Amino acid sequence: MYNDAIYDFVAVGVGPFNLGLACLSSAVTDLRCVFLDREEEFNWHPGMLIEGVTLQSPFLADLVSMADPTNPFSYLNYRKQQGSLFNFFVRENFYLERQEYNRYCRWAVSRLDNIRFNHQIEQVVYDPDQRVYRVTGTETKQNKSFSFLAKKLVVGVGMKPRVPDCFRPASRGIELHSSRYLKNKPELQKQKKITVIGGGQSGAEIFYDLLKDSEKFGYQLDWVTRAPRFFQMETAKLTLEILCGDYGTYFHGLDKPTKQKIIEEQKSVYCGANQSLLDEIYDFLDASRHSNLPQVQLMPCMNLINVKQNNSDNKSADSTNGYFLQFAHTQTGERYQTDTGGVVLSSGHLYEVPSFMEGVFDRIERDEQGKYLQKENWSVDIHGREIFIQNAGFESHGLINQDLGMSCYRNSRILREITGQDIYSIENRFAFQSFEPGKESGWNPMGSGVPR
Ligand SMILES: Cc1cc2nc3c(=O)[nH]c(=O)nc-3n(C[C@H](O)[C@H](O)[C@H](O)COP(=O)(O)OP(=O)(O)OC[C@H]3O[C@@H](n4cnc5c(N)ncnc54)[C@H](O)[C@@H]3O)c2cc1C
Repeated sequence: MYNDAIYDFVAVGVGPFNLGLACLSSAVTDLRCVFLDREEEFNWHPGMLIEGVTLQSPFLADLVSMADPTNPFSYLNYRKQQGSLFNFFVRENFYLERQEYNRYCRWAVSRLDNIRFNHQIEQVVYDPDQRVYRVTGTETKQNKSFSFLAKKLVVGVGMKPRVPDCFRPASRGIELHSSRYLKNKPELQKQKKITVIGGGQSGAEIFYDLLKDSEKFGYQLDWVTRAPRFFQMETAKLTLEILCGDYGTYFHGLDKPTKQKIIEEQKSVYCGANQSLLDEIYDFLDASRHSNLPQVQLMPCMNLINVKQNNSDNKSADSTNGYFLQFAHTQTGERYQTDTGGVVLSSGHLYEVPSFMEGVFDRIERDEQGKYLQKENWSVDIHGREIFIQNAGFESHGLINQDLGMSCYRNSRILREITGQDIYSIENRFAFQSFEPGKESGWNPMGSGVPR
């Protein structure tokens, strides 16, 4: 399957970000693009499609609305096409269930004819004669090689599960990660004791999901976090302005040490769980005080430092996969060990430059650790206009990087860079606050001298 046509761009990976780009591009005449993904079909974080769990973003953070509210791929049009717009109107709930968001994305996929699943990308190289990128890989259904030529690339391969070092090199660390929760849930629920590690949104969702079943299955449940308390994500409206284009531009212009400091300071915005979920957990625990709920323990300040396989006969689990978990209390310094039958690591995700990019490393700007040096327009190539990366810019653009609500903003910009046309025009100003006073503000810069 070697295709000699030259595409305007090839997009690698079809998660929500590149899917949004596919929807927005579909209205652009004469733009030739194809979207490739290794999975058999679209499924948004299938290991975390827990029944009843909602998005953290309102429905307007769909694939297109923030760029073009009239677009046929909007969530509202999806409901209209399903004949259920009225129900959505009456329901008056801005927060879609994650399973519903997945259904909506799959509907969008079904209406596009340039998305190819079962396409595992293995290599990207540059052909200087034709001045194009060659994207090659395997079509996994028929086990055949394929190749596409493109003037530009948009890589949106998402993030990888972050596994604490003490679970490495054992590959079972990945197996225990929250991204595989639903797959592992039946096995987990056979244990006498389960430990959920991580106090963020995924940790809270998994803990609550297991908590509701604990009486039925009879397992004990521990929920631990390294943070000093179980805290809610900050959602004050003025705080949420740091999830906008103005802030991304301001943040991008800062130096690296300042950015790192800010990212640390903003943990209360991107870590933690949502308030309503924490409240539901509390209410459930209170309501269960007089029931036969097996032991449930919540422990903040617990930093996981070591893991050992429990091969002894007196392990608390029926399964052979018992663990000794060792923690250090972050405030008292005391160390603790506990045994458990099942572990769920809700330890987040991180971006890794995919190995298929090695063939174009000479055309890419990276830092001393090999991470991309992303320009403000999300390109990483030396010319700043050929290779664009989705969702790798936490350290360059800050919190707007992984936010679904900012997907349209980034995709509008990427499309502008690729086509040279401002198809989905971008607002001049998003925020009420000024992250750096402009000339019109009457605040005149006097030079630095104030320590940051
Ligand atoms: C459980 C969970 C819930 C979240 N909820 C929210 C939320 O409510 N609001 C919010 O703003 N953000 C949320 N996020 C953050 C973020 O928006 C999502 O992670 C989002 O899915 C990122 O989209 P993506 O397109 O970058 O990557 P992904 O959704 O991870 O998709 C990447 C795709 O690339 C494909 N791929 C990878 N490598 C290759 C290859 N070599 N060849 C071919 N294809 C490849 C994969 O198969 C995958 O389909 C959530 C994240 C998680 C983990």
